[in-house]
Amino acid sequence: MSKKILVLCMAALMAVMAMVAGCGSDKKAADGEKVLKVGTNADFAPFEFQGTDPNAYDGFDMDLIRAIGKEMGYKVEINNLAFDGLIPSLEAGNIDVIISGMTINEERKQKVLFSDPYYQSGLSIMVPKDNDSIKGFSDLKGKKIAVQIGTTSANEAKKISGAEVKELNSSADTFIELAAKGVDAVINDRPVNDRYIVESKNDNVKTLPELLTAEDYGIAINKNNTELQGKVNAALKKLKENGEYDKLYEKWFGAKK
Ligand code: GLN
Repeated sequence: MSKKILVLCMAALMAVMAMVAGCGSDKKAADGEKVLKVGTNADFAPFEFQGTDPNAYDGFDMDLIRAIGKEMGYKVEINNLAFDGLIPSLEAGNIDVIISGMTINEERKQKVLFSDPYYQSGLSIMVPKDNDSIKGFSDLKGKKIAVQIGTTSANEAKKISGAEVKELNSSADTFIELAAKGVDAVINDRPVNDRYIVESKNDNVKTLPELLTAEDYGIAINKNNTELQGKVNAALKKLKENGEYDKLYEKWFGAKK
């Protein structure tokens, strides 16, 4: 009888030990969780910006990359960098991906891989409200224009004949320059201009309805990492299929047309 109890106790002990071992290996997996190093320029609301907590990053891109990381089983680590430093950082291997309202274009494709497009954007103009002479892009010839350095806005502004282009560090700086009357107009991504009008409550400016370009945003990945590109695309596809992407879109931009 006592031998039987002993055997039962042994069995129970072994079961407990197996559970502990199991827990141990789970813990190890959690500790050794893969980290996705994300680069962004967190001065581009509503896509990426710093909220009241300076260490927290908010915006559509931030929510999307966290959801993608979760889907892939990676812990997401956000690094806030200068926009024109993002691709060099990716090339140097300091970050794994860039999500920063970054337009997919040929010039960048020489240096990085892109995920499938995740947002359709375009460039718009902002001018002082009392300016009636600038009605569209063709009226920007010979004007002073502020843009963010290293962006598609900067590329387009430089094509306008006779324009004096001021390249500033962030979209926020372009708005300050316009308010200070240092420029006649700014060119930025449309959703960023639109958001400024709503959030800043600056009543002295307006955006023009004309869109200069149609641009797609993509997540940039190191040129050699096709495996990661595949994982990001698979996660993005899943989020589009399961409704999670639409939820985030609605949270930041309202219902999809
Ligand atoms: N979409 C623009 C570009 O890729 C601007 C991006 C940004 O300023 N974050 O150049």
